[in-house]
Amino acid sequence: MSRTTPPRPLDVTAVFPQLAPLARTATRLHPRPGSATPHDSSVGGPLLWPADEPWPHCDEWHGGPGPVAMVPVAQLYVRDIPLLRTPGRADLLQVLWCPFDHEPDDKPLTALFRRTAADVTEVLAAPPEPFDVEYEGYVPKPCLLAPEQITEYPNPLELDKELQQQLADGGRWRAAGVDNRYVLAPDEFYWNELSVAPGWKVGGWTRWGLTDPVARLCPVCGTGMDPLLTIASSEWRSHTESWIPSEDQALATGSLDDPEPWNPTRLDLARGYDLQLHVCPVSPEHPHIGLIQ
Ligand SMILES: [Zn+2]
Ligand SMILES: [Zn+2]
Repeated sequence: MSRTTPPRPLDVTAVFPQLAPLARTATRLHPRPGSATPHDSSVGGPLLWPADEPWPHCDEWHGGPGPVAMVPVAQLYVRDIPLLRTPGRADLLQVLWCPFDHEPDDKPLTALFRRTAADVTEVLAAPPEPFDVEYEGYVPKPCLLAPEQITEYPNPLELDKELQQQLADGGRWRAAGVDNRYVLAPDEFYWNELSVAPGWKVGGWTRWGLTDPVARLCPVCGTGMDPLLTIASSEWRSHTESWIPSEDQALATGSLDDPEPWNPTRLDLARGYDLQLHVCPVSPEHPHIGLIQ
């Protein structure tokens, strides 16, 4: 089933044309419970992992009988998410993590693998599982995806001071004919409903929340890094309900069947925050970084 983000209450570039060049495409993944195969894009589903390739284990010691087997977090085929940055022939991105906290900010340690699906002739049938996990919320429930492309604009704090002041000026919004209920707290309105989508997504703008924006520079070459994948602890919250897909609105507050429709993967990172993976635009060989926000 596809998922559709309701149209934004207004086209923000009609009020602030300066935002137009900052528009970025993001792909909302809309994970929903389902049984995926290795040939599907999924969250927490089985990976298309070659039978003759060692399964990744964490190098760090977490007690127990030996190295911890990493856990599949996401598998994304370029055919489903054309926005994915993949080098050369690669048409598949696999994200795994060690389900234990790692320094510096107590989060699972992620590993990215890019491969060409056609090269995998025999799929590993029974991957090893971790002997333990730090938290239950570090193992996503298997979900299928319904990718949807949307347009995002930056966090207000990533804009220049002049534009920040204009966004906070209710008079400018009112003059453009914007409904009064939005004009009362225009910067919140912009941030919650017009800029960055909540939930799992590929690309788009970084969703700051835990801290103010900080530079994300490649540890190898110093280039500014781009958001790749946002791994989310929820698909929406009370202040981002306008992003609930049309198809989910009837059940958005929960039911006996699904008491927490806002978190279909049941992931819980840093008490409800997101882990956003960033990659270097210069080379996929340069290490990625993970940001809790
Ligand atoms: Zn580890
Ligand atoms: Zn780099």
